[in-house]
Amino acid sequence: MSSYPDLHLYINGEWRKAANDLPVLNPATEEEIGRLPHADKSDLDDALAAAETGFKVWSKVPPVERANVLLKAAAIMRERQEEIATAITAEHGKPLAQARLEVIRGCEFFEWDAGEATRTYGRVIPSAQGVRYIVHHQPIGTVAAFSPWNFPMSQPCRKVAGAIASGCSIILKAAEETPAGALHIARALHDAGLPPGVLNLVFGTPAEISDYLIKNDQVRLVAFTGSTAVGKHLTTLAAQHMTPVLMELGGHAPVIVCEDTDVEAAAISGAFRKMRNAGQVCTSPTRFFVHADIFDKYTEAFVRRAAETVVGNGVDPGVEMGPLANDRRVEALAGLVEDAVAQGAELRTGGNRLGGKGYFFEPTVLANVPDAARVMQEEPFGPLAIINPVTSLDDGIEKANSVPYGLAAYGFTNRADYVDRMVEGIEAGNVSINTLEASLPETPFGGVKSSGYGREGGTEGLHNYMITKNVIHSFSIV
Ligand code: NAD
Repeated sequence: MSSYPDLHLYINGEWRKAANDLPVLNPATEEEIGRLPHADKSDLDDALAAAETGFKVWSKVPPVERANVLLKAAAIMRERQEEIATAITAEHGKPLAQARLEVIRGCEFFEWDAGEATRTYGRVIPSAQGVRYIVHHQPIGTVAAFSPWNFPMSQPCRKVAGAIASGCSIILKAAEETPAGALHIARALHDAGLPPGVLNLVFGTPAEISDYLIKNDQVRLVAFTGSTAVGKHLTTLAAQHMTPVLMELGGHAPVIVCEDTDVEAAAISGAFRKMRNAGQVCTSPTRFFVHADIFDKYTEAFVRRAAETVVGNGVDPGVEMGPLANDRRVEALAGLVEDAVAQGAELRTGGNRLGGKGYFFEPTVLANVPDAARVMQEEPFGPLAIINPVTSLDDGIEKANSVPYGLAAYGFTNRADYVDRMVEGIEAGNVSINTLEASLPETPFGGVKSSGYGREGGTEGLHNYMITKNVIHSFSIV
């Protein structure tokens, strides 16, 4: 695609190529669309040195000026929305309309954190005469951040915005499959006047880069979004250096559908939202626990809407769902479906790879899935829904909590007492009622259990990127 950007590393305010590069593929066509430079150790050393200098400069820039740079960069990205969205669709496969929304969501993360930059208040603690106790927040230092391929723009935006708003410097390793979103973020910040070294963007072999950066004591925060397995590995590496982590990991979101809800509307909403981003979303609704009284009606409406999903190349008008990001995901989904059916699950629609070029998989619904099926515990991270009956709300809550994950959870009901029981009883960082939206710039997003640690967004978001310093000031020597 002609508008796909020429890919570079961005270190110390300069664009550079690398000795090695590897192809970036369009998952809808499997064609090469770009060559991605892979950083070696000398590039990483340069990024570390630049981030050290960048931090010294940026941490002293007044918050309101940091906010202005973020706001200017967001305005630039809004102007470039079409160019960025086209690149995202080419490298990720999602429909262009979803890519356009993602660009705007990335800008909103910048805009929210720009505001928050000016509100990282400390406090004065009441004290005796002659002494003052002050709580003061300071930027933590150099951040090593790792963003995934499922949202090439909005995922890195979150981490970059948090670091820059707080006064940190950041070395971002964005996903190798989808580098264009992060590249556009760096371009916008460069054009907005961000000083050299504050943001450094690298790509390469993920394990080599994370290992090299995390072992360096200059790195004061490790921020990662991705799978729980990798998150645990990076947390273990960071623990050797007592480096704090911000971990946004996997989910296996339950949806409890109560007997009093509008069945048709809830089913259509569920099927539509399930297929967003081809289900490759950590908050994707996946385990639908539907009251037995409405189970048949709900499942029928859900399957009908899921089967109607228009699947194709994201650039084609009317397409609702693109390909999966890579061949690994296709194989993973096929394996989960095969196992579930072998365990006795009913395959109500889909279940197969679509023929021809590209990593396409059918919108898939499994019903009455036994607990022994792998998919009941493993996050499918694809267009696969499980619909199982439950006998009561308590039964639904117990099943919702029966996985190691606790990221997003959803409920459909009009009863206030049911809402209260779900809010109190579900183990998750985010609970949404009558909507399948779980994350906004102004709300704190993150998980419990194996879904992670820390929060992004809301007034909580910048706390990860700052230290709390307790200051005791006696007015005379005691
Ligand atoms: P994976 O576990 O191989 O990789 C997940 C992400 O981590 C990728 O972006 C990858 O580049 C990165 N990564 C892998 N090893 C790393 C390392 N040692 N250091 C730093 N980064 C590393 O899985 P995958 O096949 O790419 O993706 C599938 C799984 O990833 C899914 O099951 C899902 O749980 C998870 N995932 C989650 C999110 C999310 O938003 N939470 C996003 C993307 C992927």
